[in-house]
Amino acid sequence: MSQTSGAISTALEDAAALLRNAKHVVVLSGAGISTPSGIPDFRSEGTGLWSSDEPMEVASLNTFRTHPERFFNWFRPLAGQIFHALPNPAHESLAKLENTKVSIVTQNIDGLHQRAGSKHVIEMHGTLDTLSCTNCFKRYESKNFLQPFIENGTIPLCVNCNGILKPDVILFGEQLPQAAWFEAQSAARQCDLMIVAGTSLEVLPVAGLPVQTVDRGAHLIVINNTPTYIDVRADVVIMDDVATVLPNITKRVTYG
Ligand SMILES: [Zn+2]
Repeated sequence: MSQTSGAISTALEDAAALLRNAKHVVVLSGAGISTPSGIPDFRSEGTGLWSSDEPMEVASLNTFRTHPERFFNWFRPLAGQIFHALPNPAHESLAKLENTKVSIVTQNIDGLHQRAGSKHVIEMHGTLDTLSCTNCFKRYESKNFLQPFIENGTIPLCVNCNGILKPDVILFGEQLPQAAWFEAQSAARQCDLMIVAGTSLEVLPVAGLPVQTVDRGAHLIVINNTPTYIDVRADVVIMDDVATVLPNITKRVTYG
């Protein structure tokens, strides 16, 4: 189902009105907000990262433990894309909103919300900004290790004990970070508006947050390229590129 330009214009206005009147906003962001920055959605079929390896197998905790070099081989191009990526207008428009009013719950590991200037970002799948030693658990900033890894394939090793450093991202088969999940649930319980931005809502438990939100009577805006299961219950659905739509909505809020 495609939307006509008149319908989209009305939807943008409706979304802006909801955002203008909201007191607490939770933005649920996913891969779709970072693909315009050149970062592929490695969980989606059809991206280059699926061609040689199956991510659910190679990007799993089990592969990391048993064949770390396989994981790092697969991860290297993705790490390079993330390392060189810049925030796009969607990240920037969210960062320009009043920070005290907006919490971002992201499924992305690229740190682009923070780089754009957003302060309150809850990372459900961890981050590539830090690495932890699998042996002594010492934590490191990624930047000194990532460049040699991306350029030469040098596997990052602990300065302390020579153990293998694991990016602090949540791999398949790994538990979600409890603290982040509690924080996300708490933010979702308090919000009067949730914006789904560039996620098809296929990964649990994050995908369940919009249901709880609309069940409480809070408002919901969905901006995604493809339909989601919650569209039927949303106040506004805009099926388009989030990097175009979000700035369009926030501009109306700031100057409207
Ligand atoms: Zn160590």
